[in-house]
Order: sequence, then C-alpha cells, then structure tokens
Amino acid sequence: MKVLVMNCGSSSLKYQLINMENEELLAKGIAERIGIEGSFVKHETIGKEKAVIEERMEDHKAAIKIVLEALINKEYGTIQSMEEITAVGHRVVHGGEKFSGSVIINEEVKSVLEECSELAPLHNPPNLMGIYACEEILPNVPMVGVFDTAFHQTMPKESYMYALPYELYEKYKIRRYGFHGTSHKYVAMKAAELLGKSLEDLNIITCHLGNGASIAAVKNGQSVDTSMGFTPLEGLAMGTRCGDLDPAIIAYWMAKENLTIAEVNNLMNKKSGVLGVSGVSSDFRDLEDAADQGNERAQLALDLYYQRVKKYMGAYAAEMGGVDAVVFTAGLGENSAIARKAICSGLEFLGIKIDDEKNNIRGKEADVTTTDSTVKVLLIPTNEELMIARETKSLVG
Ligand code: AMP
Repeated sequence: MKVLVMNCGSSSLKYQLINMENEELLAKGIAERIGIEGSFVKHETIGKEKAVIEERMEDHKAAIKIVLEALINKEYGTIQSMEEITAVGHRVVHGGEKFSGSVIINEEVKSVLEECSELAPLHNPPNLMGIYACEEILPNVPMVGVFDTAFHQTMPKESYMYALPYELYEKYKIRRYGFHGTSHKYVAMKAAELLGKSLEDLNIITCHLGNGASIAAVKNGQSVDTSMGFTPLEGLAMGTRCGDLDPAIIAYWMAKENLTIAEVNNLMNKKSGVLGVSGVSSDFRDLEDAADQGNERAQLALDLYYQRVKKYMGAYAAEMGGVDAVVFTAGLGENSAIARKAICSGLEFLGIKIDDEKNNIRGKEADVTTTDSTVKVLLIPTNEELMIARETKSLVG
C-alpha cells in the first residue's frame, strides 16, 4: 500500500510517497512558486538523483499534475503508474471542533472544512485547494484529512476556554484549539515505544520547538493542554511570533504608533519572537553564534525563549500531577544541545537530570538523561508525514 502525503501551502506543495507495508519513504519533493513566475518542482526518488522540473504552474491542480508525472517518470520517477497510489493523506491545519481524529474526505467533510477556513484563513484554503485538485486528478483514490488541531480536541473545557464572555465561544467559536497535533501525537507515541511502556500509563510533556513552537501535556495518551490557542500565535515565544502577551499591550501599541489591526497582527506574527527581541535573526543558529560573540540581545532572546518553555513545563507537570518523560522535537529541539540543557537546568527538583555527554547529539532518537534521572528526557525527530500516512492507512486500510 503506497500513500501519497500532501501538505499544501498558499504557493507551495510538499509531498512524500510512503510504502506503508514497511513505512519506507519512497520519494519526496516540493512544488514552489505555484501561481507565480518561475515555478518548479524538486523531486527526489530515494536512492536516485534529484530532479528539478521547471514548468509554469498556474494553480495547485497544475502542480499536482506535474508531481504525479514526476512520480511516474521513467528516468527519475518512483512508481510505474498512478494506479500504485492507494490513498492520499492531506495535512489540514484547522479541523475546528468537528474533528477529533482523521477522516475520510467526503462532501460533508469538505463543507465543514470550508466553514473552518474562517478560523485559519491563511492555511485551510490552500489545504482545500489541494484536496479539490487531487480529487479531480485522482477521482477514484480515497482521500483522508489529518488535522493539526485534532489531537488537542481531548483538552478539557477548563483548558480550552478563555476567560472571556461565554457568548464569544457560542457565537464565534472563540476557544483554544492548539496546533502541531500530528507532531505531538507522533512523538508521544514514539516516546512510549522507546520507554517500553504503554502510552496510556504515561504523563508526557512534548516540546515541538521549531520556527513555530508549541508544547503539550499528554496525559495517558491524550492531550490535556497545549500552548497554542485560537491561533498559532499564543504560547511560547517563537522565531518571529510573540507568544503570550498582556492583551492590553495591543491597544496601547496601536494607539502609540497609529497602527491598523492588520499592521499590529503582522508585527506580532512576523517581527516579534526571538527576531524582535534580538534584532539579529529568527534562526536559532544565528542567535547561538551571536550570543557566543557577546551579543547581549541575542542572549536575552535565547534566555527569554528557554524561560518560557521551562515555565510551561512546570505548569504542565502540575496540571498532570507529575511527569514521566519530556520530549524535544523539531528544528531546535532536535538539534540544539544548548537549548535542551538550558531549558532543563533547574528542573532537577522535578527529577530531570541531563547527561551532557548523551545530550551532545542531534537529529537522532536518544535518551539524554543520567541513569538516575527519574524523568526521562528524550530527543525524538518528528515525522508528521509518516503520522499522516499511518492515519490514512488506518482509515483506508
Ligand atoms: P523547523 O520549523 O522545525 O524546521 O525548525 C526551524 C528552526 O530550527 C530554525 O529556527 C533553526 O534555527 C532551528 N535549527 C535547525 N538546526 C539547528 C541547529 N543545528 N542548532 C540550533 N537551531 C537549529
């Protein structure tokens, strides 16, 4: 069974073809600049030379056609014919309150997703475009929607409600949803596997620290709290997003600088976070280098970032009544020994003891704690595509 995993953005489309008999990655690629001058597809069949196909792509449908042609290309392709694709798994950012798990896409699902577009105007419309385009080109292939929000639908009401007038929830569905759910679920499951325990018996804190960052409290296999909220802006400080703020700042800032709502939104999403504090970069490699060279604001940005992750870890340990394991994943979590060490330092009282030698590792599954650390700290590379393919297989199976 071969599953095509699709992740459609507004002008790009990432894909992977996975053989679900053995979970082997067969091919991966990206279509970029869809609808813009200079569009191209980079395709890689694992074990073969990479190919770059430069062709005009008017829209997502044109891009998907080129991707499918690349997959069956005699020279650099991956499969003999499109018939080998058993199912397509689509990443969908927002599933609202309707979807607490992945679903086979049908008319009803699509209309709910259209409704959810209001909640994720930048993400759901391109996700839907990918679904419509695949349906046209592969009409007999089942499609599955896997939602970033679904895993967090188990949050109890006190975790997902804001302390705002209740009518806002009823009228506009203003509540916390959480994101990165596919990643949090994947690493939590993997953590249980690595610890040789059942996920149902564990309290795990999963830290997805990439350019976007979120943290989740996974109690007995269910997300009971997570740091992102109504949108991915809430929670931790991020590359360019501010994370938690006193909401009163927004009106004050707008008045002081005569900003529109769109401008302040853009500043909070694109110009804040560690980029805003440091004035150097949103990339943690640049910040670590700059801090090494004595740049105080770069060091401050890092310290502030670490401190917030630590604060959430303490909160989630309290919420779950203890913690058995902490998982670090995504770009920073998988690659930065400095970040893992800084975040965990001072948490010895919780039973967390980092082993510096074991922690000196990147991009590989590892336990980075001392043998007497009662809480295990694990590095687990995330694999959202594989998780989407697994969900697709389990529904289409
Ligand atoms: P992601 O969104 O998961 O791709 O993560 C991107 C983030 O990971 C960027 O901010 C990078 O700075 C960070 N990152 C990637 N590699 C490293 C590394 N070796 N050391 C520190 N940060 C890294």
